[in-house]
Amino acid sequence: MIKKINFTKIFDTIFTIIFPGVIIFMLFFILYIEINKEKINGIDVKLEDGTLPINQADLPEGVSGYYSPLKNLIVCFKPGDCIHEIGHKVDDEKMWGAPTYFTETRKWKKAVDYYIAEIYMPTTNSEGIENSIFNFPGINDNPYDESWGFAWGGYTELYAEILQYSCSNPENMPEIFRKFYNWKKIDKLEKDYPEIEKWKKDCEIQLIKNLFDKN
Ligand SMILES: [Zn+2]
Repeated sequence: MIKKINFTKIFDTIFTIIFPGVIIFMLFFILYIEINKEKINGIDVKLEDGTLPINQADLPEGVSGYYSPLKNLIVCFKPGDCIHEIGHKVDDEKMWGAPTYFTETRKWKKAVDYYIAEIYMPTTNSEGIENSIFNFPGINDNPYDESWGFAWGGYTELYAEILQYSCSNPENMPEIFRKFYNWKKIDKLEKDYPEIEKWKKDCEIQLIKNLFDKN
């Protein structure tokens, strides 16, 4: 005997079980996204005005800020240091919620090594961002900086430092590095910390001043 397909029963199942099931699932999904929004969008620079979960005295000596990839949190106290930590935050591209640093890829290391070997030619009185990159601890055969009791430097720190050196302005940065920074995200993070705007202006003035002093 050939069994007839009971379409009415199939539609009944779809409308009474599957359809409401999907709707309920979607509602829970939206709820989950809403609850975790802060985590998903990334948090913002915490200010010194009492919203900080820690105070500077709790940090190891010499550490002026940090980025916690698991808490998705930037803690910093001075605008310049905040720029540095923002650099670490945009470096973390997060894969399925896990910290994933772009600067640990060949792409970044290759660009830095190429810049040092082929683009930048130091002279005896070289200064500025270019020279700071050339002499950066932990790259280009330079020793790590041990002055804080731990080894500081390397490609990941350089990424954050270049952002700070250049006053968080792509125009001040050696061209080869500009495309490796998510400027939109940097802009958004900086807006959480109004003092950064003033710091950036002062930083630009200092850069110009250094340029004049040199010539
Ligand atoms: Zn750092």
